[in-house]
Amino acid sequence: MLNGLSLRACGSHSLAGMARGTSSILPQPEHLSRSIPRLLAEAGTAYSFEFFPPKDDVGERTLWEAIRHLEPIRPTFVSVTYGAGGSTRDRTVRLTSRIARETTLTPMAHLTCVGSTVAELRQVVGEYASAGVRNVLALRGDPPGGPGSPWTPQPDGLNHADELVALVRSLGTFTVGVAAFPDQHPESSSLDQDADVLVRKADAGAEFAVTQFVFDPDSYVRLRDRVVARGRNLPIIPGLMPVTSFGQVRRMAELSGTPLPAVVVSRLEAVADDPAAIHEVGVQIATELAGRLLAEGAPGLHFYTMNKSLATLEVFANLRG
Ligand code: FAD
Repeated sequence: MLNGLSLRACGSHSLAGMARGTSSILPQPEHLSRSIPRLLAEAGTAYSFEFFPPKDDVGERTLWEAIRHLEPIRPTFVSVTYGAGGSTRDRTVRLTSRIARETTLTPMAHLTCVGSTVAELRQVVGEYASAGVRNVLALRGDPPGGPGSPWTPQPDGLNHADELVALVRSLGTFTVGVAAFPDQHPESSSLDQDADVLVRKADAGAEFAVTQFVFDPDSYVRLRDRVVARGRNLPIIPGLMPVTSFGQVRRMAELSGTPLPAVVVSRLEAVADDPAAIHEVGVQIATELAGRLLAEGAPGLHFYTMNKSLATLEVFANLRG
């Protein structure tokens, strides 16, 4: 949304630009205007953390505690998810804007096509722009019936993420990232199709990709190599989810179509009745996986934090230690 100050400060030419979602001509704090591809090139190893908009006050407090614990380790960026079917649109915009305003962190806003017309998507992009958010993760989103169910595009909406990449790029000076699926997207027919789709998104203007969480480093390497073989140099950041609950990771793995390797399952099963031991083994597994992914040349690690800081901080400390 345009605020009064921006309206007064902008000439009529830039006002038209703002309405299209382009950047304000007012000086932006440095942490907001950082472009993720540039940060990836400079960072050596990039660390990013993903949050979701909480549903209630208790969740809000837990999240902000996590944000304040993670802020001092100066992650490369943090991201905020866009709920299934666009269900958290207002909360996502509000949380991303608050992170932009009240922290030193560089936010990346997720955006999906589900349930929105192009006009509505343009409006959300405009809201991100007026909050100073420069980095957007452009996604199609899961079908309303859940991952793997048939996809029906919204009338006057977009059909695939590559179209959203092009739309966001056309609306201003955004840098745009996309999703990648090392273990094959549930609707995809093959790993080659996944690599082709990633190439299509890069050609539409995506400058980096973040993967679904992985437990098998080889699947990450296979996807990355397929993209390189297609002549694209897109940085692909692997997603990492430190396990803190066996039930939760099993559910999420099933939903996302990410196989849990037998060796991971047996290590977790061995301590399944002991929550503290699950946490400890989950952090060990994530630390080993992170080490392998970085040794394979991954440009960084994207932590699925589940709005908690402890496991992420422990993995981070192990990697630094
Ligand atoms: P697309 O790239 O459009 O791919 C969807 C399917 O269509 C794939 O099977 C692909 O192979 C196929 N396809 C793509 N382009 C074409 C084409 N041109 N022609 C034919 N077939 C094509 N979901 C949310 O709701 N909110 C979030 O915040 C969110 N964040 C995520 C963050 C990450 C890092 C990841 C990995 C996923 C996230 N998701 C989120 C889930 C994601 O939206 C779903 O997995 C969705 O089903 C796929 O999105 P996509 O952007 O990859 O879609």
